[in-house]
Amino acid sequence: MFSRLRRFLVLRTLRRHGLPDHLWRKLRKELYLLHNLDTRQAVELRKLTTLLLQEKAIHGVQGLEMTLEMKAVIASQACLITLELDPASFDGWKELIVYPDTFKVERTVTDEYGVAHHQASPLSGESWQNGPLILSWADVLRDSYKRQPGSHVIIHEFAHKLDALNGRVNGMPPLHPDMPVEEWTNALSKAYEHLLRQLEAGKQSINPYAATNPAEFFAVLSEYFFTAPDVLKQHCGEVYGQLAAYYRQDTLSRLHN
Ligand SMILES: [Zn+2]
Repeated sequence: MFSRLRRFLVLRTLRRHGLPDHLWRKLRKELYLLHNLDTRQAVELRKLTTLLLQEKAIHGVQGLEMTLEMKAVIASQACLITLELDPASFDGWKELIVYPDTFKVERTVTDEYGVAHHQASPLSGESWQNGPLILSWADVLRDSYKRQPGSHVIIHEFAHKLDALNGRVNGMPPLHPDMPVEEWTNALSKAYEHLLRQLEAGKQSINPYAATNPAEFFAVLSEYFFTAPDVLKQHCGEVYGQLAAYYRQDTLSRLHN
């Protein structure tokens, strides 16, 4: 009954709020991540994008006005990562806030000695567990139209949302039943330790921000998986395999098409 109701609501949303053809064609042409999708994937992505635009309240702050096209630029690339996942993967939160540029979040963090520090560092994006997702529009523009290997703020923040689905943001989203947890844990922890060793030795590697903690490691490696799968495969072949199994996509084959 519930799935019939959901199907009815989905069809009604698609009928009433479908993305205009000209806008969809523009996105497919201009957003490099949307190139090389097959017909089924493109149809599915348009559907997911339409639904996400209806489900989330997307608004700009500090004078930024969000047009339908700007909202669709964000939604279409966010939905690319859930193309082969449960359609309810982005349920449980409502609000997407967009700043014109990097933004400062002031907060007090207590360290291991119980000392409170005031922090105000500029951010490109943030994802609150069960809360809003926040993006800098300048960073969205930088990452969307020209491939920046390993950098994509939308993928990064929405990957945190997937990671949070099993209650903890710890670098492991809920895996599919056919994915052994030990294989995931072994591949990712080995690659994480390897990255720490490379950074200690001053060697060039992937984005050092990935070494912050396992949650950032998953988010940054997801950025590589979609924007530079060749670099990911070269640095951490086993992780590429695990991410391909999790996202159920072979991004490397799209890169060479
Ligand atoms: Zn992050």
